[in-house]
Amino acid sequence: MGEGMDCRQMFEHLGGYLEGELALALALEFDAHCHACARCRALIQSCRQTILVYRRQTAPPLAPNLHRKLMDRLSAKPPMD
Ligand SMILES: [Zn+2]
Repeated sequence: MGEGMDCRQMFEHLGGYLEGELALALALEFDAHCHACARCRALIQSCRQTILVYRRQTAPPLAPNLHRKLMDRLSAKPPMD
């Protein structure tokens, strides 16, 4: 523990990760953390489902308010290290 990303960094990069905008090295760290952290894994899974539903309903790419929704969700469950 204590190496690579912590949960807070995960949250900071979550939007970019979900939109496939992270640099490869960063995305790999992200994946590594997800592998080790059940909480982040669950969070990302639920975010992905939100995005899938969203994309099914509306054709255009991710709207800015999706990021807001994610942030709202995150602030409801602050990470604890
Ligand atoms: Zn985590």
